[in-house]
Amino acid sequence: MSTTSKIEWTDATLNVVTGCTKVSPGCDHCYAETFAERWRGTAGHHFENGFDLTLRPERLALPLRWKSPRRIFVNSMSDLFHTDIPDDYIARVFAVMALTPQHTYQILTKRHGRMRALIGNPEFEKQVDYELLHFPAFSDAKLTGRPWPLPKPGWPLPNVWLGVSVEDQKRADLRIPALLDTPAVVRFLSCEPLLGPVDLKQAVRTMGGERGHGLTASYVHAGDCCQKFHGIDWVIVGGESGHGARPMSPDWARSLRDQCQAAGVPFLFKQWGEYAPTGLMAIGAREQGRVLVGDPIDDLGHRWEMRRVGKGAAGRELDDRTWDEFPAATSSVEVAA
Ligand code: SF4
Repeated sequence: MSTTSKIEWTDATLNVVTGCTKVSPGCDHCYAETFAERWRGTAGHHFENGFDLTLRPERLALPLRWKSPRRIFVNSMSDLFHTDIPDDYIARVFAVMALTPQHTYQILTKRHGRMRALIGNPEFEKQVDYELLHFPAFSDAKLTGRPWPLPKPGWPLPNVWLGVSVEDQKRADLRIPALLDTPAVVRFLSCEPLLGPVDLKQAVRTMGGERGHGLTASYVHAGDCCQKFHGIDWVIVGGESGHGARPMSPDWARSLRDQCQAAGVPFLFKQWGEYAPTGLMAIGAREQGRVLVGDPIDDLGHRWEMRRVGKGAAGRELDDRTWDEFPAATSSVEVAA
């Protein structure tokens, strides 16, 4: 739990659940698991159970005490839509978010199916309303700073951004259509660790031509019809860090940046991760600490060379500049308290 965060795209983290189970290649070197296992059995660090899924209801009311607006990443140490988290607990988390419109919440999942099933279900919305009325802390006007009973919030909640992890094309094809079928005011992708090239339009071909045309831009004309289609609002890209990190080809990151630029979608380049590009292309065996990555970039079979320099030295510049774009109209400071 932290009222500040080193994560480049958020201000604070709120871990109302810790622990998880792995579902796809992006989980292979899960940071949350490494962290939890380091503190397993250590009293006072709240990771006594290691990486076992554990609800942390004592943390639910924390955002009520944070009066200044923040972007809050919910469950950086778990996945809020994990199958072992009860529906009513998730509804309670949404009730907290409804009660604190001064904050902007960022929820990122690899359980796209459950997210879609819950958020799109009117029964879940009723569960959130129920939690708002019945959870004791929520009726404490001193804590909420708001008169009781609370007005019914709109749905989807205007201060909640929903995102899916996309590490390669297969996961893009699975998760992006589900995200686009989920009601949300802001939809985002976290392509980290990026493990392969991703074509965003290919990811929505199964949804039909209209959506395929409009994927990466918010509210654009979809194909030859006059409907506007709400697509993806924000894309984050990053390479992997830590033990066993896999290198990210510069071409994979550039391609996503270019797709975003072409469609007017904000793009944030978070980090290279453990490996930085040397700027060289090469063929054949490399010396220790250097690898070739991605597909050949010419007819001779050259590929981009990456060097293991560590996350700090690798930095977060892509083509000589940082990319720190956010969804413009929805930053936390613009959400009324
Ligand atoms: S879903 Fe996230 S928290 Fe869960 S194992 Fe995978 S990377 Fe870790």
